[in-house]
Amino acid sequence: MDIMESAGGCRDALDRARAAGRTVGLVPTMGALHDGHVSLIARARAECDVVAVSIFVNPLQFGDPEDMARYPRTLERDLFVCAEAGADVVFVPTVAEMYPSWPAPPATTVSVRGVSDRWEGASRPGHFDGVATVVSKLFSIAGPCRAYFGLKDFQQLAVVRRMVSDLCLPAEVVGCPIVREADGLALSSRNVRLSVAERAAATALARALAAGRGALAAGARSGAEVSRAMRAAAAGEPLVCLDYAVAVDAVSLEEVGDIDDVGAVRLLVAAQVGPVRLIDNSAALAGADDTLAEPDVTGQVRQLERIG
Ligand code: AMP
Repeated sequence: MDIMESAGGCRDALDRARAAGRTVGLVPTMGALHDGHVSLIARARAECDVVAVSIFVNPLQFGDPEDMARYPRTLERDLFVCAEAGADVVFVPTVAEMYPSWPAPPATTVSVRGVSDRWEGASRPGHFDGVATVVSKLFSIAGPCRAYFGLKDFQQLAVVRRMVSDLCLPAEVVGCPIVREADGLALSSRNVRLSVAERAAATALARALAAGRGALAAGARSGAEVSRAMRAAAAGEPLVCLDYAVAVDAVSLEEVGDIDDVGAVRLLVAAQVGPVRLIDNSAALAGADDTLAEPDVTGQVRQLERIG
């Protein structure tokens, strides 16, 4: 496995692979890798000849410098996880490599209007501009590839898909199922910052989504009804401060009025739990694109956790 800090080195390696007729899979991450990330690398491994993982905590997408400073960083372990999961190249740029003018932001940024505006975009101003900018840079460095993203960050996936389409970027975006703990909590690098009590309360997000699915299955015909059911399910948890719990059109991400007016409904939830902002989402049908942590990759990461 090659570990590279230089954008030029990464580009050359992937160009050489393509020149030799090999396909490239790219998995962008911010590190602190868990089974959700491993599932993306495993999917890329299964579908592409060469797998590149990027690990970069992107300062441009953090509004709050505290959140950025406290973001978990476990590079040594991450490299081990990448090797075990079958990555060929790990791109680990410095901030100076990605943004030479930093702390002055780059003059050129990417904004994906509309789909970035609501939900996470409204609660975290500038966040999706930071995401779109860094992902467009990673695509430019990696060259033509299949790029693997988790459905866990549903709005981010919509932003990236729209950017690729609008800018004709040579990347085929693949959305991958959400990996969850046995009790339903979606895996996230930020979960390690939860206290024991907050970790227990955090299952309220998955319970809210289940309540939303239940309301739909029981015949709810309006987004407001579904939203009420989701909010009620999370209301009993004093440690969970809900930001939004909504039913949206899965394509436009606009809040649903009449359920019968939209093709596919997506349930979105976000909450502050202690020091951590958590997000989760679900299709209208249980299990449509979620997976409980798969035993093979879970075993691998649990073993790593014992090693430290
Ligand atoms: P991050 O390192 O948090 O920026 O995430 C890197 C990629 O991993 C993104 O495409 C995320 O959507 C994806 N990801 C994060 N958590 C999960 C999860 N629990 N299941 C599946 N994919 C995930």
